Amino acid sequence: MTDKNEREWQYTSTSHDAVDDRHHGSINIPIYQSSLFAFESYDKFEEATRNSRISHVYSRGNNPTVRYLEDKLAELERAETAKCFASGMAAITAAILSNVKTGDHIVCVDQAYGPTREFVTGYLKRFGIESSLVDGRSLDNIRSAIRPETKLIYLESPTSMLFQLQDLAACAELARSRGIVTIIDNSWATPVFQRPLELGIDLVVHSITKYISGQSDSVAGVVLGSERLISRIAEDEYMLFGGIMTAYTAAQVTRCLRTLPLRMERHERSALAVAAHMVSQSYVLRVNHPALSSHPQYALGQQQMSGSSGLFSFESDVPHEIMRQWASRLRLFKIGVSWGGFESLVTVNPANAGCVTEARSLVRLHIGLESVDDLILDMDRTWAAMSLTDEGVSAD
Ligand SMILES: *Cc1c(COP(=O)(O)O)cnc(C)c1O
Repeated sequence: MTDKNEREWQYTSTSHDAVDDRHHGSINIPIYQSSLFAFESYDKFEEATRNSRISHVYSRGNNPTVRYLEDKLAELERAETAKCFASGMAAITAAILSNVKTGDHIVCVDQAYGPTREFVTGYLKRFGIESSLVDGRSLDNIRSAIRPETKLIYLESPTSMLFQLQDLAACAELARSRGIVTIIDNSWATPVFQRPLELGIDLVVHSITKYISGQSDSVAGVVLGSERLISRIAEDEYMLFGGIMTAYTAAQVTRCLRTLPLRMERHERSALAVAAHMVSQSYVLRVNHPALSSHPQYALGQQQMSGSSGLFSFESDVPHEIMRQWASRLRLFKIGVSWGGFESLVTVNPANAGCVTEARSLVRLHIGLESVDDLILDMDRTWAAMSLTDEGVSAD
């Protein structure tokens, strides 16, 4: 399928539902605000309990509103099935725990989301699960980190501070040849731009909180993959830890999903325009954006992704303190964590705050849905208003 056809299919998939008698033809999935589901007879009750993955018995296990969203997300990600969680971290930790036990070893990319790394390298150590963090840009690094007891390779491509990629098809092939399960955090690209299951990865996780929601009003997560791997997560981690998505959140996220392809195309265009502008700025050393041809892994990105989203970073030799002043003076960029919403955001990190870079500052930008001309003007004006002194640049 060509990319254009794929995109058109995504628009239809997110906008169209067959009329469903069970919901009285309701054009939107109703919010099934019910903890339990009752039965006419004991026979029907027992039958439903035996098929708890598809039938509705109790909302900690399976709720119709949540199930609707799971099916929609699975369709977009080309997964057999999905399970939605209360947050991205609930989905990530459930997916990891489902695939390891005491004595096992995990290979994890060293630039993965901070709390994920902390869970893998710190928390799981308490249970006798070992791990190695590797620079995932080279397949050789991943291959040499594999031990006989390695059961899981955890990927995140691109990473969300330096935007480093892993070769997903090659990682999947390597893992399969050793009987190792692969998980990828696909929050940055979303299924609109990257479908890792098609490249052989076993499980995809998302922080729905970011682009899939896109409204900065929900915290949510999802795991997608084969029925075999997902039903194990649904029966164990989902049911036992209880970090479920509520029907209300599912209905809210379902509304957001309608505009996902539309929003992603806008984030892509705007972020590329801002990134290209940043390349020529005197205070910018390097722009980390996988769809800029200057990115060291540009070719790989073009091969495994059909587009790019709105989050990227730039490195600067301007001291951290000055970049913080610049960020504080921006009018259209808010200072805040997270990303993926309608609003543009900025964070300024001192060099080496968890990231390997020689620059003095690492500035991360999320390009929202505002006018791209206004965003560029805001950054240019703010920089121009800060004048040079002997110490470097300072506020005037
Ligand atoms: C935010 C984030 C998460 C965690 O998601 P929550 O919904 O906040 O739990 C995981 N991975 C990445 C890349 C993220 O940015």
